[in-house]
Amino acid sequence: MHCLDCGTAGTDSLTVGVCQGCGAGVCAAHARVAARSVRRGSLIGTPVEAEARTVLCPVCAAAEAPAAAALAR
Ligand SMILES: [Zn+2]
Ligand SMILES: [Zn+2]
Repeated sequence: MHCLDCGTAGTDSLTVGVCQGCGAGVCAAHARVAARSVRRGSLIGTPVEAEARTVLCPVCAAAEAPAAAALAR
């Protein structure tokens, strides 16, 4: 699978991930990794917040998570 954005630009790079927003393949240069916290807990006890991640393409990152789009990789 090749990076969608690289393909549009005329080069083909292998993907390292898939955008969670649009499903496009993204290479290392185009992948935007956004942190999100997941709350899990049982009926008893205090919920625990864990750090998870979301992989986005530059387009979806700019639309959904501006902070992630700003991350330079
Ligand atoms: Zn790319
Ligand atoms: Zn996307």
